[in-house]
Amino acid sequence: MPDIINLLPDAIANQIAAGEVVQRPASVVKELLENSVDAGSTHIQLIINEAGKVLIHAIDNGLGMSETDARMCFERHATSKIATSEDLFKIKTMGFRGEALASIAAVARVELKSKTADAELATFIHIEASEIKKQEPISASQGTSIAVKNLFYNVPARRNFLKSNPVEMRHILDEFHRVALSNPAISFSFTQNEKEIYQLPAGKLSQRIVSLFGKNYQKQLITCQEETHWLKVQGYIGTPEFCKKTRGEQFFFINNRFIKSSYLNHAVQGAYEGMIQEGQFPFYALFIEMDPIHIDINVHPTKTEVKFDDERSVYGIIKAAVKQALGTHNVTPSLDFGS
Ligand code: ADP
Ligand code: MG
Repeated sequence: MPDIINLLPDAIANQIAAGEVVQRPASVVKELLENSVDAGSTHIQLIINEAGKVLIHAIDNGLGMSETDARMCFERHATSKIATSEDLFKIKTMGFRGEALASIAAVARVELKSKTADAELATFIHIEASEIKKQEPISASQGTSIAVKNLFYNVPARRNFLKSNPVEMRHILDEFHRVALSNPAISFSFTQNEKEIYQLPAGKLSQRIVSLFGKNYQKQLITCQEETHWLKVQGYIGTPEFCKKTRGEQFFFINNRFIKSSYLNHAVQGAYEGMIQEGQFPFYALFIEMDPIHIDINVHPTKTEVKFDDERSVYGIIKAAVKQALGTHNVTPSLDFGS
């Protein structure tokens, strides 16, 4: 019997990997914005057309890439963020897998422009289905611009699976909110179908919350802070009177990375017990800081799930912190919410 096993060509391997990393336009938005944050940008511009189905374009003023790196960034497992397996235990950047750009370039038409501070010219690269079609020096200012066009143009099944523009736009906004909230020192602008929908100046977290969600948040935010020798929590929670009927505005960040955790959500929700009714959800944006040695963020490629080595203690500290914050707020005296 002849040998029958082939090593898959890169383009196919990338396309398979893209299935996990790039589920929808919002996944691309997340990866591009996080790369711009990791590059030390102070301003990030996001341009979206047709809910990202036609164009997702991120422009930053970060470190930029050299000519070689501008090609390398589209290779799978190519990253400047980790080098050794020890590095995996002390990740400070949003990215580290080196998969995003390779995956995106496998399922879209991508145009990159990038320039470092010391280079005279920028590098332009046009890549389609993992194949570099054009590369040339051009003039541009420092930073990186990545335009992702016609997402899934070569994967009809995926393209057909995309939801309506309003639904895909909702997912994009969710990702944008998460990145904008966790980086208030970076200014952002966001243009959708040629219309500017956000212009966020750099500032403090409370200002960012207000410019993202509305002026009426200003008076409804309570500072939340707690510190133990191994964990720090800080951020804002909404007043009990300011609850919503949906969970949309509840955010946990661990070491500045947005995470989903129904377990920790339960801790916060529990702290409000007696102050809010069933089916009501308070606003919160809580930032947990701890030594990365205690967490594993490598659970899923999209990195929104984490594992803690001591989940129960984290739960307890969060709940206590929120309770204490609510205690400092002038709650309706007639409500008995225990101690
Ligand atoms: P990761 O972020 O996990 O390293 P990516 O595929 O997202 O993997 O990016 C690959 C590499 O390309 C990054 O490690 C970084 O060196 C470079 N890169 C990507 N986007 C930018 C950007 N906006 N500015 C500067 N460098 C970038
Ligand atoms: Mg990345």
